[in-house]
Amino acid sequence: MTDFTQLGVKAIRDGVAGGDFTAREVAESFNAAVEGAAALNAFIVATPDHALAAADAADTARAEGKTLGKMAGVPIGMKDLFCTRGVQSAAASHILEGFKPQYESTVSQNLWDAGAGMLGKLNMDEFAMGSSNETSYFGNVTSPWRKSGSNTDTVPGGSSGGSSAAVAARLCAAATGTDTGGSIRQPAAFTGICGIKPTYGRCSRWGVVAFASSLDQAGPMARSVEDCAIMLEAMAGFDPKDSTSLDREVPEWSAHLSGDLTGKKIGIPREYSMDGMDAEILASWERGKEWLRDAGAEIVDISLPHTKYALPTYYIIAPAEASSNLARYDGVRYGLRDLPEGAGLQDMYAATRAEGFGDEVKRRILIGTYVLSAGFYDAYYNQAQKVRTLVSQDFANVWAECDAILAPTTPTAAFAPGAQSDNPLAMYLNDVFAVPASLAGLPAMSVPAMLNGDGLPLGLQLIGKPFDEQGVLNAGLAIQERAGFDHAPEKWW
Ligand code: GLN
Repeated sequence: MTDFTQLGVKAIRDGVAGGDFTAREVAESFNAAVEGAAALNAFIVATPDHALAAADAADTARAEGKTLGKMAGVPIGMKDLFCTRGVQSAAASHILEGFKPQYESTVSQNLWDAGAGMLGKLNMDEFAMGSSNETSYFGNVTSPWRKSGSNTDTVPGGSSGGSSAAVAARLCAAATGTDTGGSIRQPAAFTGICGIKPTYGRCSRWGVVAFASSLDQAGPMARSVEDCAIMLEAMAGFDPKDSTSLDREVPEWSAHLSGDLTGKKIGIPREYSMDGMDAEILASWERGKEWLRDAGAEIVDISLPHTKYALPTYYIIAPAEASSNLARYDGVRYGLRDLPEGAGLQDMYAATRAEGFGDEVKRRILIGTYVLSAGFYDAYYNQAQKVRTLVSQDFANVWAECDAILAPTTPTAAFAPGAQSDNPLAMYLNDVFAVPASLAGLPAMSVPAMLNGDGLPLGLQLIGKPFDEQGVLNAGLAIQERAGFDHAPEKWW
């Protein structure tokens, strides 16, 4: 008997369409897998009925001979940052606990329109701030991966750590993620799966809880490049409700996938080789170059001179935007309200925010408010905006020399829970290779490369020109075809 939970997006969709099995059988298997994986804490809310209803709709459509959607019958997980009608959408924060939106985010609606079903809302770092899924009000997510021969837990990355854990553990065929400065790519790398952040503006931000609006982008997380391509086609598209939405056709990326890179140039940014870099990360990068060369590409040396300023710039701009976006959580409109006896309006704001936000979120609000304050605005925020332009120009300059860029996704493999929680700066360094592409709004993807000596996955990152998701996916495919990464975590949960 087929274990449906081992199947990805394409295999399920094609199997349902071809009558090999029903979407209901598939949804039932995944619902059971979700129920059996409480130890991972990947889901905040399970929605088995949503998954079953979508499956029945797909089975009925097939029986009636109707055309099936791109994702018909595919059960997915939805990051808790997306507003889903009638289902708690809390961004893993206490301040939004109990908030059930009256509306559906554009991206999730696009996925339901394509025939996907929702298994539940995935845990994440609170308001998408974090790299280890340890800032969620609803508890840490535990990665299904452990070092070989060890039963010590590792973190699934963050902020889309529920998404990465669930996809790696076969609790869903794929999941949505969001990436502001690495939150799709870093967790994908930590858990041996693929994830792509498209060009800024490809996926509507409407109905997605805002963190840093000029950086936030949704994208798919799945176990193959092709599954990512299919799901991104379903998620992306122009949306008049998002003023930064790209008014461009969504290409059929999945139909044009090719791992043949003949004639392509892949840039290796000199500045991404940093002092004291992990030897196994360096080795995986070398392997990546060999694989791309084998696929027909020419490897060229490039320079992105402002790389070292990217992370500090991000940690001014992202908190600045967050402090402004999070001002709306005041105890009046959504979720939590803490109204002490005899309190006035200001007291209610203060009490609600003091109780509703976790430490990392408060840290970002404080930094953001400071860098936007009248006395420091020019020194920090304005300066950061200028440096952001320089980082973007670095990339714009190298497109004359290469078609895409290869880099590591992360500076290390997954670490143990608690290992970096007392040191915010160490935690922020997780995204040192991810943040530059975010500041420049470029499409970027992580694909699994290999296991390190401890048996933990390492990912490689591909960064592309604006709107060239195809180039990123194709280079990702070339690596996938050669890396032959078919490792799955051993089930212990
Ligand atoms: N880890 C980074 C941060 O904490 C990126 C988060 C994200 O991309 N949402 O801000």
